[in-house]
Amino acid sequence: MDKNAPKIAIVGAGVVGLTVADILQKDLNKANITVIADKFKEDTTSSVAAGIFCPGSSFRGATLEIAHRWIEDSWYYWQDILKTPEASTAGIMELSSYVFSKEDYGVTRNSFIENLVPIYRSVQGEELKICGPDWKYGSYFTTVKIGCDRYLPWVEKRFIAKGGKIVNGKIDSFTDTSLRQYDLVFNCTGLGAKYLCNDSNIFPMRGQVIRVKAPWLKTAFFGDYDTYIIPGLDGVATLGGVRQYDTYNLKVCKHDAAAILDQCSQMLPDLKKVEIVAHKVGLRPHRVPVRVEPELIGGLKVVHCYGHGGNGVMSAPGTALNAVKIGYDFLKTNVKNKI
Ligand SMILES: Cc1cc2nc3c(=O)[nH]c(=O)nc-3n(C[C@H](O)[C@H](O)[C@H](O)COP(=O)(O)OP(=O)(O)OC[C@H]3O[C@@H](n4cnc5c(N)ncnc54)[C@H](O)[C@@H]3O)c2cc1C
Repeated sequence: MDKNAPKIAIVGAGVVGLTVADILQKDLNKANITVIADKFKEDTTSSVAAGIFCPGSSFRGATLEIAHRWIEDSWYYWQDILKTPEASTAGIMELSSYVFSKEDYGVTRNSFIENLVPIYRSVQGEELKICGPDWKYGSYFTTVKIGCDRYLPWVEKRFIAKGGKIVNGKIDSFTDTSLRQYDLVFNCTGLGAKYLCNDSNIFPMRGQVIRVKAPWLKTAFFGDYDTYIIPGLDGVATLGGVRQYDTYNLKVCKHDAAAILDQCSQMLPDLKKVEIVAHKVGLRPHRVPVRVEPELIGGLKVVHCYGHGGNGVMSAPGTALNAVKIGYDFLKTNVKNKI
């Protein structure tokens, strides 16, 4: 490691923090990079997500164009891993998907991906009856899914193997003395940024899912009212879901679980008799727009990259590339970089 290389810290070891770490390390092979976090792997929100690449319509950067660029950059980042023999170890898989609605044509369309993914088309006629008789609108597309149960350990291992350091700890403030040694800090703390940055624009959007054994399931299905059925590697599918605004409850709710099973088995009746592997709850870091910008805090150069809401797994690479570019420019600026 080059002693003159900048010392960089990334606060956060969810999908966003570790993807920033991975991109930085690829670019600056002699860099001195440390990831600091108080939760790792299965304890993060990232590990709760199904991780499907299907952006919600409210996903935003500072402009809509920026959001489109993040999504495009993310798509190619995942495609690059998908082409390698490492894809399955990294938790990346191709997936085809149906979106159906009984009520609204608009919810079956996705302007973020319709010109990006290899296949994107409307569904009509007999194909609309795959999940029962009453569906009026539908679309079909091919996409990818990123399973963080595999991606987080894979990317962390790659980071450590190339000389990256991991520190288990909580940061209470960007003026912490422990951060004084760094030339640049990335803030990838998800919902933690609400407290760390005193940011009143970020809210928890509670989600609950059920992991079930369904090795026969090869296609993802989305229905009205946040119903989704998403197969994964290992034959374990994710059933969802709920979207509860400003709710901090991390306990499994049996009523939510019953509603999820009911909604999903109305779409695919075979799900009534599946084995349940786990119930999971996570708080999506909801913020519009996602915050990717520099800030000088008490002389410390900080680049924020947080608030990805329900889209953080798929969009992590695009926002990370943007944050890293901002970080390089920030490093070159001639402002005092010590607290
Ligand atoms: C039910 C559900 C389903 C979802 N489905 C999808 C999906 O299909 N596709 C998709 O793209 N997204 C999905 N998401 C959204 C996705 O999970 C999030 O957007 C994403 O995980 C955010 O990643 P993150 O790295 O910002 O946050 P996190 O995973 O929460 O990681 C934050 C990290 O910061 C650390 N941290 C926070 N504060 C501090 C501090 N003060 N000091 C030190 N460390 C700190 C934590 O310890 C942790 O390591 C879903 C979410 C849920 C809940």
